[in-house]
This record gives sequence, structure tokens and C-alpha cells, in this order.
Amino acid sequence: MCLVLGNGPSIVSFVPTTALARVTLPRLYLLSFGRTRIGTLPYAQVVCSQSKDVGTMRARTVAALAPLRGAGRRSTALVQAPWTTTTTSAIQLLQARGGATLVDTPTAAHDLAAPPEAIEPSRKAEASKVFRDAVAATAPRNTWTRQEISAIYYQPLLELAHQASTVHRRFHSPGEVQLCTLMNIKTGGCTEDCSYCAQATRYQKGTGLEAKRVESVESVLAAARQARENGSTRFCMGAAWRDMRGRKTSLKNITEMVKGVRAMGMEVCVTLGMIDDKQAKELKEAGLTAYNHNVDTSREFYPSVITTRTYDERLQTLGHVRDAGINVCSGGILGLGESSEDRVGLLHTVSTLPSHPESFPVNALVPIKGTPLGDTTPIAFTSMLRTIATARILMPATIIRIAAGRKTMSEEKQALCFMAGANAIFTGEKMLTTDCNGWDEDSAMFGRWGLSPMKSFDKTPAQAGDMDARQ
Ligand code: SF4
Repeated sequence: MCLVLGNGPSIVSFVPTTALARVTLPRLYLLSFGRTRIGTLPYAQVVCSQSKDVGTMRARTVAALAPLRGAGRRSTALVQAPWTTTTTSAIQLLQARGGATLVDTPTAAHDLAAPPEAIEPSRKAEASKVFRDAVAATAPRNTWTRQEISAIYYQPLLELAHQASTVHRRFHSPGEVQLCTLMNIKTGGCTEDCSYCAQATRYQKGTGLEAKRVESVESVLAAARQARENGSTRFCMGAAWRDMRGRKTSLKNITEMVKGVRAMGMEVCVTLGMIDDKQAKELKEAGLTAYNHNVDTSREFYPSVITTRTYDERLQTLGHVRDAGINVCSGGILGLGESSEDRVGLLHTVSTLPSHPESFPVNALVPIKGTPLGDTTPIAFTSMLRTIATARILMPATIIRIAAGRKTMSEEKQALCFMAGANAIFTGEKMLTTDCNGWDEDSAMFGRWGLSPMKSFDKTPAQAGDMDARQ
């Protein structure tokens, strides 16, 4: 018996319909078609994660789904979407295969090209045990081996995302997503050679980006105020510097900025390149909440992206930040040309730090013309989702931020990331040198998906009593 659901007028009405159909008709196969207009949200994931909440959902939805139930009893296919050639062929396909088919067609070229990421057959049993144990954990641990991380990373993607979602609900309030705004307080003129970055002086001819002086304290505080008025609770400031050596005046100004933003009741994060222990202490005294210094990728792949400072120098800066009592924000960039093993390596580095970073930003490379990686093929969304879901399981209490590259992600892709454990986004006018989703756009998205902005310094803990229902 099959129930065929077509796509409704929009994804936000289609998803609940599919979810409710799963709750009230748990044994039916759900076939989606005509999905080229609505993206690649895997409905099976949606329905999986909702299916145990039968008690509260059933009563509310039985009446609304009466026509579908009727169709189910008659053992026929019910079609909600306009009847098209696609519809006809989907049904023919379904009939030909005896009724148990979920049609899933990736829509983006790079998704089609993505190599499958899966566990070798000989390691399946062992990997399943590692995965089960990791999902059952009730406290963070930082003793992960690379093999354990691979065992989690290569799980079937929908199962990985679903289990990450259960871990997410154990440690976080699932409807809460933090809004953060990132301001470039010193654009361009950087001496480093990060192959992805428009701000490196050496790529300036190709990128055409002009270096600017450090922003004034007043202009930064005005931008922070605007961010707060628009709902952001974390304000991040980035400066295109290799390090802070010989920048006493700038550091003093930055401490003023930190104090000013903190006085507005916001969390404040800076990213200023490498810092030593004294500079870290100075920033801590000013009230800095977090310091961002990404490790970018795996230790092995790192030298093919950056040659002017080492992986260990990056880890050393993270050590100074941690020792000063500042929260560590450290993440990666996906789509640099790395392999899936490098993404496992990135996750291994951050999840085995002496303590997990408070914040793990996941960036999708935005290729910028004129940089060495300007023509790179974008990362497949499946790899992005896999990385977020694995990070959520490895570092259950960490805030996972969808950072650069969100602008190119459809709303349903973002929703899937939220379900798999992402719980912060960057929003506002710009993400350093690239475009960013605006506050209004994000506020409308939150409304459609029932999300609410996280308060600053106040991540609402998951409600223990709700756990069973949520899972
Ligand atoms: S990423 Fe940072 S350190 Fe690297 S070139 Fe750009 S501004 Fe400089």
C-alpha cells in the first residue's frame, strides 16, 4: 500500500504534511516527487525524527489527515500535486518496483558528483557499536580516536543526522538558534597566504580588494548596536592580521570595543590572528567572551592551503586563549579540495583539544576570483551535513555555527543542518568580504520553521522531561 504525496505550494507546508502523514499512517511508504522545485530535503529524516511523538501529534492531526487515511484504507495512491509527466512516471516506477520506493534525486550538479562516503563492509559491525556508544553518551569526552570518528562520520547519512538530532536534544533546546554578526574591523592587507582568502595582499591584484585602516571604536559600537537591535546576541570582530605583534595601540582600541559590546549585554568574540599569552590575558580582562582561530582542515591537508604559519602555531594560539580563561571558537572550512578523511581529521583535532571548543564554526568555501581557490567546486551539501552531524555527536555541548557559505544554501538545507545539530548562524550585512543572509530574511525563516533566537550567555538547557517525546 502506498501513499503518494506531491509537493504543496511551499516546503514549509509540505514538510509538516509529510511528517503528520508518517505519524498517523506509520506503516505507509511515502514517495515524494516533483522535488526539483522544492530542493533536496530528505523527508524520511523529517518523519523519522517526529515519529515517536505520537501522543501529542496524533490527536491534533487525525482530523486534518482524514482524507489521507481514507486513501490509505483504499490501498490506492493519493496525489496532491498537480498531475504532471513526472507524477505519472513516478507512479509507474512505484508500481514496477512493488511499492517500496523512495525517489531521491539530487538537484545540484556538485551533489551528483560527490563520491559516496560510506563504511567499508568489513568494519560495519565495529563501527555500529562505536556509533551506538557515542550516541548514548551523556557527557562530552575528548578521547576520540580517528578510527572512532570515521566510524561515526561514515554512517548512512540519514541515520547519522537523525542520531545527531537526538544528541542535540539531550544537550540543547532544539528550537533555539543563536544569531551572530561578524564585522570586519580591519579589511585586507594581510601578509599570510591562506589560499581561500581575499584579504591576503599577495592575491590583491586578482581580487581587487583594497586594504583599509582599522575601524574606529565608535563605528564598531554603532554596528554592534545595530546588530543587537536586529536580534543578534553575539558580535564578532575580525581583523586581517597574521598576529598582534607590535600592535599595542590597536589592541588597546580593541579592548575598548570589547568593553563597549559587553556593556550592551552581548557576547563578544574577536579573531585577530595569532596571539600570545599576555595579549590573551589583556583581552580576557576587557571581558572577551570568545576568541576565534580556526584550524581550517586536517593537519595533513593544511600545508596545501596555508604555508606561512603552521598547524601547531594555530594550536598554540588556542592554548593561550584557553589558559587565559577565554572560550575557544575554532572550526573549519569545507570545500578547500580536501578529502572526507581530511574532514575526519579536522573533527579529530577539535574534538580532542584539552577541552571542547565552546564554538565550532563550519564554513563552506565561498570561492573568490583571484585567490588560488577561486575556481574550486563547492562542497557537496551531503558532506557539510555529515560534518555537522558528526561534530554534534563528538562535541555534544558545543555551539555549532553555520558560517560562510550559508547564503548559497536553500532554506530546507539549513533546516536539515539545524535538525542535525547546528545551532548558530551569522546574520547581518556582510561576512567579512562575502555576502551574508540578512536579519529580515533570517527572521522570516525562523518564523516559518518555528525557531527562536538564543539569548546571550543563556543557552536554554534541554528539558529532561521532554527527552523521550523529543527523541
Ligand atoms: S584568512 Fe586571515 S590570516 Fe589568512 S590571509 Fe585571510 S586575513 Fe590573513
